[in-house]
Amino acid sequence: MIVRGMEEKEEILFERESLVSLRLNGVKVNYFFICQRKLWLFDRGVHMEKNSDQVFLGKLLDEESFPGKRKKITIDNLISIDILDDTNVYEVKYSRAFEKASKMQLGYYLYYLRKLGIEREGILSYPRLRKREKVILTDDLIREIETALLKIQEVIASPSPPLAVRKPYCSACAYFEFCFG
Ligand code: SF4
Repeated sequence: MIVRGMEEKEEILFERESLVSLRLNGVKVNYFFICQRKLWLFDRGVHMEKNSDQVFLGKLLDEESFPGKRKKITIDNLISIDILDDTNVYEVKYSRAFEKASKMQLGYYLYYLRKLGIEREGILSYPRLRKREKVILTDDLIREIETALLKIQEVIASPSPPLAVRKPYCSACAYFEFCFG
């Protein structure tokens, strides 16, 4: 990573190698925008969501809603893309509950693919709701992603997790018992 001072603001450049060595994947970007404690726990190998949304999403992807498209593509043993075709990257979600986090996760995939010389647009897909939303990798989105990546680094470098602060969605979180049980 390079941080370079500019006239009015800093320019942050993450190289692909840095992202790989720091293990900055899309789930971490997603969790950063939901709960930094969840991000820290996940980074430390506390994974508690295997039996909930991921199972359901796997079924959605196995159904016939995306015929002829490549599914579940892993890049650099780091980035796991739901669906990729010649023009789009699709991120499939169960609900719109964490729309911002989902958008940033998909934006990060577009950002990562650009580092490989691959240009795509993003589609956030909610098959259950029959909704789709387009995500474009604009300069503003790149800046937002890189700012988040810097903060994610800080969170996961901390020797202890952020305190458990109760949020409206905590009771539905797979880590609830871990935090408040
Ligand atoms: S239960 Fe709440 S505080 Fe704990 S990880 Fe989940 S969202 Fe974060």
